[in-house]
Amino acid sequence: MSPNLVASLIEAAAATIRAHADHLTELDQAIGDGDHGSNMRRGFDAIAAQSEALAALELAEALQKAGMTLVTTVGGASGPLYGTLLMTLGKSLKSGQGLTAALAEAVDGVKKRGKSDVGAKTMLDVLVPVLETLRAEGERTGALASLRAAAAASGEATKDMLATRGRASFLGERSIGHCDPGATSSMLLVNAVCDVLEARP
Ligand code: ADP
Ligand code: MG
Repeated sequence: MSPNLVASLIEAAAATIRAHADHLTELDQAIGDGDHGSNMRRGFDAIAAQSEALAALELAEALQKAGMTLVTTVGGASGPLYGTLLMTLGKSLKSGQGLTAALAEAVDGVKKRGKSDVGAKTMLDVLVPVLETLRAEGERTGALASLRAAAAASGEATKDMLATRGRASFLGERSIGHCDPGATSSMLLVNAVCDVLEARP
């Protein structure tokens, strides 16, 4: 029997956040308030602590619950934004949408919640290109390499962008020259999901 999908996703996501928490904090020290690593670690540790209960649920329901956990445990802007992403993704999957349509609704949810869009140097600058790649490639295993590449390239591309949303926008021109912390955590999470999907039969 293959390992439970929800348990594998939680393990992979929490592991990459723990492994890169210091780096996320360094990025946030450069253009924010230096808490993105600890915010994300707190949120994903809280999800990991519920892993057994979440693994007993359908994926859609587990995503909704995990999203609520992020909203309630993460203090920073990223908590409600990632929380909205997961809750909307779960809700859309539950209503019978396919993955691409569900992710599109989830990304729209983040845009609305953050009153933001691509080009503002945020997590959306990774989430939107990844969604567009998924649309172009279709939901197949062969698309995973393209999704990773899109996440890496778009995350790196935030380095040269001017922040117009979130704390980094307070720095104006000085926000240029550092990758966005939230874009970087999105890139890490996309890679973690790809790792899990690739390892499945
Ligand atoms: P805070 O900014 O409250 O300290 P974090 O440091 O945890 O919260 O998260 C910062 C990240 O959240 C940013 O790097 C950016 O990617 C994302 N972010 C902040 N504001 C917005 C927004 N309005 N829309 C989308 N993403 C945002
Ligand atoms: Mg911060």
